[in-house]
Amino acid sequence: MTEKLLQLLKAGTSAIMVVKEAEQQLKEAGFEELCFSNTWGLTEGGKYYMKHHDTTLLAFTVGQQVESQEGFKIAAAHTDFPCLRIKPNPDVATSGYAQVNVEVYGGAILNTWLDRPLSISGRIAVKSNDVMHPDMRYIDIKRPLMTIPNLAIHMNREVNKGVELNRQTDMLPIVGLLEKELNEKQAFLKFLAKEEGVAVEDILDYELWVYCMQEPVTFGMNEELILSPRLDNLTSVQALLTGIIEGKQKKGINVIALFDHEEIGSKTKQGAGSLLLLNVLEKICDSFGKTTAQTKESIYESFLLSVDVAHGLHPNNAGKMDITNKPVLGGGLCIKEACSQSYATDCEAVAVVEQICQRAGVAYQKFVNRSDMAGGGTLGSIASSIIPIPTVDVGIPLLAMHSAAETMGKKDMESLTGLVREFFSL
Ligand SMILES: [Zn+2]
Repeated sequence: MTEKLLQLLKAGTSAIMVVKEAEQQLKEAGFEELCFSNTWGLTEGGKYYMKHHDTTLLAFTVGQQVESQEGFKIAAAHTDFPCLRIKPNPDVATSGYAQVNVEVYGGAILNTWLDRPLSISGRIAVKSNDVMHPDMRYIDIKRPLMTIPNLAIHMNREVNKGVELNRQTDMLPIVGLLEKELNEKQAFLKFLAKEEGVAVEDILDYELWVYCMQEPVTFGMNEELILSPRLDNLTSVQALLTGIIEGKQKKGINVIALFDHEEIGSKTKQGAGSLLLLNVLEKICDSFGKTTAQTKESIYESFLLSVDVAHGLHPNNAGKMDITNKPVLGGGLCIKEACSQSYATDCEAVAVVEQICQRAGVAYQKFVNRSDMAGGGTLGSIASSIIPIPTVDVGIPLLAMHSAAETMGKKDMESLTGLVREFFSL
């Protein structure tokens, strides 16, 4: 189980690469690719997936028997994570340094991105003969390419009192030295063109993400912990993949939805705030000849597990936790609740998940924010406002969420995977 997670953490360097790795695992397990614009000839016992704009993926398995009003079992997670994105016209030449212009994606802890080996991953749109279909190239440089250096303590003696980093001026990575021509205008663009084997002028646009190259490592006296970039939310993506592949499904339809854009609010064409999930459920019903009324009944009979990470108690800051709900690393998956509904909160649905955990022999803990702290949100409430079905937020506890490298307890991955596998075996 840990091996699969480590592989996804290494390969999933951008949402695009997360979807590619997910696709690979599903294909190996015999899933067949579908395209939304075609008619689907689904069969009982079939396993399918579809990609959406390269960064979102939905997969589903059909049991041996599909009944007209039976609901879907759905689990959702997100493929994106806080990072830096390279802007158009990227080249910045500063006193002999080649730098790239970047913007910050999502709620990154900026100072954790300093002094790290960084690389880039994503896609490049190259000029083609068909105006509606540019030549899309996928790229992961996979070697250290840049870094954002700290300022020496001698130039800021107050550094240990805390530093506010400016998102525009302090976060520009150094990508090389301009030895020959100090004012080289297109050093980085030329590098990109060379990597792809195309002319600079043929690169029309790109989505290139700067990622932390640190390898995931297990650590601790008993190797009970994992330190890695992107634990939020690749732990959940892997639990969903393993859960749907290994679930002992008897009947009904199991669905996983891996959405992009959670870190920026989900309200995009490939986010959980789109109609994508609803449209896919309707299309599945249509393929099995369900009437409009039966389709609605099936959807309203469904259940959604929204899977995203939680906060574990930080030993140096234990006071930041709620006073009676203090999940710890290694203590099992967290069920997250908030009366603001920033985490989907419904006692009947939570009870269902607790019963599934107990049935699977899986450890779980409850997470609630301190009443004087806002905390984060998840895609659970957003998705369930479009498809109004019972929804529960679960996920493994982390330390340093949204840092360039986060810490988790190894055992919690087993708990989360155990829950998802059991959910998909009901
Ligand atoms: Zn997350």
